[in-house]
Amino acid sequence: MKLTGLHFLLTYQCNFACDHCFVWGSPRQTGVMTLPHIRLFLQQAVETGTIKSVAFEGGEPFLYYATLLEAVRLAASMGFAVSLVSNAYWATDVEDAVAYLRPFAGLIQSLSVSSDLYHYDEQTSRQARNALAAAEQAGITARLMSIALAGRKDAPTVVGELPPGETGVMYRGRAAVKLAPRHARKPWDSFTTCPHENLREPGRVHLDPLGNLHICQGIVIGNLFETPLRDICAAYDPAAHPVVAPLLDGGPAELARRYGLAGEEGYVDACHMCYTARLALRQRFPAALRPDQMYGAN
Ligand code: SF4
Repeated sequence: MKLTGLHFLLTYQCNFACDHCFVWGSPRQTGVMTLPHIRLFLQQAVETGTIKSVAFEGGEPFLYYATLLEAVRLAASMGFAVSLVSNAYWATDVEDAVAYLRPFAGLIQSLSVSSDLYHYDEQTSRQARNALAAAEQAGITARLMSIALAGRKDAPTVVGELPPGETGVMYRGRAAVKLAPRHARKPWDSFTTCPHENLREPGRVHLDPLGNLHICQGIVIGNLFETPLRDICAAYDPAAHPVVAPLLDGGPAELARRYGLAGEEGYVDACHMCYTARLALRQRFPAALRPDQMYGAN
């Protein structure tokens, strides 16, 4: 596995608890990276020899502003291209937002600002507008990141650039519990591929505060406190992973079939089926399907 990007989930905590969130972000979540751990993780990223970019996201990374700023300084000084993702709750005014952002100028390549009708009561929130204006003043490249409101024909047009492959809600994490029951379902055996992640040769993966390396949120392929990242990459064998292997062989349908979970039930999308099957398999594969934070169980 040759990684080029590593996404740091700086914290599982968030000031919001959006229905569509697939990492169950909320004020009650636990798990925050510390500077000694970030230093260790960045050093391990350097040792892979292939990782060139890192992103800091969450949860909401600006909740731990001093840690975030120091982490960005460190990552930039080590030569990584750095980006940030935030819901911009802190951008109460343009001038205030400039004060938040100016210390990042020259250190980050981009800031992605999340705003949509899941986060706020308007598609492009005042905070998002302030953050984008402040970023321009601070000389930081910024973009709006929005998720389409699912299932509403009168929903406003999606604005901003959606992440690659993410044209709408993915029904995993809290979205599987909160949103999926409201939407139409398709037969379980129609979900024969993973539509969003390159599980065989991922270019980027997510790292959480507990050291877990996620190939998709909640599917763990190693832990950096137990095994150096370079060794996890070298040893990664998708065919030997109890969850990745069936997903590659036949998507969520094969995951359910292989472990005797297939029934008559339908699902909203592939992620909904995958997440539901994984919930049922957590006790059987505790090392691969963790931590509790990703399954709304903490
Ligand atoms: S199908 Fe499963 S592995 Fe693929 S993106 Fe959805 S939740 Fe992740």
